[in-house]
Order: sequence, then C-alpha cells, then structure tokens
Amino acid sequence: MELRKDPITRSWVVVGHPEQAQVPAHPCPLCPNDNLPGQTLLAVPDGGSPQVRVIPDFDPIYRIEGEPGRTADGIYDKMHAVGAHEIVIETPNHDRRLSQLHDEEIERVLLAWALRVQDLKKDERFKYVTVFKNRGGLAGEDWEHAHSQITATTFVPRRILYELRAARDYHAQKERCVFCDIVRQEEKQGARVVDTAGDYVAFCPYASRVPYELWVMARKHNHQFETPRPAANRRNLAALLGRLLRRIEKVADAYHLVLHTSPNTRQSKGELGDYWRTIADDYHWHIELLPIVERRSKSYSIKEVYFNTLYPEQAAERLRQFDHSL
Ligand SMILES: [Zn+2]
Ligand SMILES: [Zn+2]
Ligand SMILES: [Zn+2]
Repeated sequence: MELRKDPITRSWVVVGHPEQAQVPAHPCPLCPNDNLPGQTLLAVPDGGSPQVRVIPDFDPIYRIEGEPGRTADGIYDKMHAVGAHEIVIETPNHDRRLSQLHDEEIERVLLAWALRVQDLKKDERFKYVTVFKNRGGLAGEDWEHAHSQITATTFVPRRILYELRAARDYHAQKERCVFCDIVRQEEKQGARVVDTAGDYVAFCPYASRVPYELWVMARKHNHQFETPRPAANRRNLAALLGRLLRRIEKVADAYHLVLHTSPNTRQSKGELGDYWRTIADDYHWHIELLPIVERRSKSYSIKEVYFNTLYPEQAAERLRQFDHSL
C-alpha cells in the first residue's frame, strides 16, 4: 500500500490492497467478547463496563509504524501509507443505533471522538485526523454494530484543503470567519434551519450536494472540535445530533457523517505552512451529514458536479416537520 499524489488536483490516493487481517470469526467482531485482538485505545467511561470503546481497525488502511518517507517518482510524489485507523464502538449493545442512544450516551461518543483526535494530534507525523461514520449498507458500513471510524493521515484530505483555502481567503478579505457568517445568515433567514440546541445550529446548506444534506455548527467561533470553549455544552450537541439522525432515518436508510476540524497545527512545515497564521480565526469546526436517499444517485457517480433533485429549503421544511420528541 502506498499513497500517491495527483499533481493536478493535489489529492492523495491510497493505492494497493490492505493485508488480510484476522477479523475474528465471532458473528459480530464489535460485540463484547474476550477474543477482540489488539488493545483498547480508549474506554468511556473509564473502568467498570464502558459504553464506548476505541480499538485499532482489524484491517487498517494506514499503518501506525514508520515515517511517511515522502519521495519523488519523477514529477510525482508518493509516500508510505503511515497513519492510524481506529474503530469507535459506540455501544456494547448490538441492536442499538447511534440515533437510538440517550443524549448522555451520544455525548460519550462525542467525548471519545474528541479525546482520540487530541491524542492523535500529539503525533507530529499526522497532519489531519478525520472522524467519520458510514451508516447503512448503501453507505458501505462494514458491520451493523453501531460504530464510527477515525483515521490520522500524513496529508490533509482534498475537501479540507478546499475549505481551508476558502476560509483563509474569505478572512483575508473581510476579517471574518465565513462559517460564523453562514450561521448568522441562516439563522436570520430561517428557511434552511432544521433544529437548534443551546449554542448549536443545524441547517441544510445553501448549495446542498445531496437531498437532506445537513451541517451542524456551533454559533460561537472555534476552529477545533476537540477542545471546546469553556462554556460549550456538549450535551446540547449530543441532543441535537440524536434528533437530526432520527429525522434523517425517516427519509433515508443510510448516511455518511464526517467531522471537519482544524488540521494538526503542530505540523507547521511544508505545504500547509501558509495556513497557520490565521487558522484559529478563519476555520470553524462542523459536522456534515450526507444522507443517501437515491439508490443510484448521480451525486455519487458524477463527483465533478453535484446534481441534487431537492431544494434545501424544501428539505429543511420536511425535516423540521418530524416530531421534535421523535
Ligand atoms: Zn455486535
Ligand atoms: Zn467561525
Ligand atoms: Zn466541511
């Protein structure tokens, strides 16, 4: 396995096959059992019988050992697939989805994400840490058992680079955070806002790529999800996320969730050097939710241009209609 860089789009591509790992023969490898290989990286709460457990992936895309070893191949760049790949087991109960957990249980999942991002960012080899969740067969989930995944990579994924550049340029022109401006305008207009809790707002983005796309953001500026402002109440975020997932499950069988947070600013050399000067002011963490509504969605086959058949204003209206208590 190696990483190759597309010199035109600057995106890194993982090439090759992972080695076939020994995934346990137990029917569900994420259910509590004594045969789980590897160590538990994190348990929340610690001790007793934890609800959330983080373990290394059985079949990791990235390997934790070694240096990136970035080398030239003629005009091209390549490096070893060094990084981390972890599984967050959200509940020991095989039959409960993340959307069915109580607010305080979802809060523990969010805490586990934050603690792992913090820990992985201590490793200066890693430029970016991604938290994501593929829920449902159409989203390509590996196991039914509620879980999310974390990867740490020696490069910043392309979409994050786009966001970083756009946020930096906007800030350079206006001395404001583009995400803060978006939240303010969405709340003022209201048409695309779906739900709020405490300081957190969820809305269908103006140029939604897929039907019922949702972004979740804090009103108060913060570039890092993993280090909340003292007043930020993660329980509110957990409550909001739970309600949003239950809404999404009314209209879609599957979804992708991805957390976008600031890259590792300990890594100040190289291609990202430019971004560090204003990143704490210009970038703003958020969660993106991408439901999969259409079986053969053009959005996923023609990635260059997104075709979304549903206006985000209509999507927001429909999602708002579902009972608040759900
Ligand atoms: Zn299970
Ligand atoms: Zn902001
Ligand atoms: Zn984003």
